Amino acid sequence: MTYVITEACGECKDGGCVAVCPCDAIHEGSITWQNQTIAQLFIDPSECIHCGLCEPECPVTAIYPEDELPKSSQAYKEINATFFRQRRR
Ligand code: SF4
Repeated sequence: MTYVITEACGECKDGGCVAVCPCDAIHEGSITWQNQTIAQLFIDPSECIHCGLCEPECPVTAIYPEDELPKSSQAYKEINATFFRQRRR
């Protein structure tokens, strides 16, 4: 299980979540997804231990457990994972 950062982050990028994450699982960057650039913070699903510490730190409610993602933000599970897959190449 992982937490996922959704589109609301892009306008904010507060970074409070980064400070509380015990696993250094949250990183800022950008990805091209369906011909659009998405620049925000992302959570690495291979590092996240699902502790939930990041969620209340987000001032724009951009962070969700993967199984509680709003319907309109479902793609962000794959977007977060793809960001880290591309970084490891
Ligand atoms: Fe880090 Fe915990 Fe948030 Fe996962 S749930 S990104 S481990 S703070």
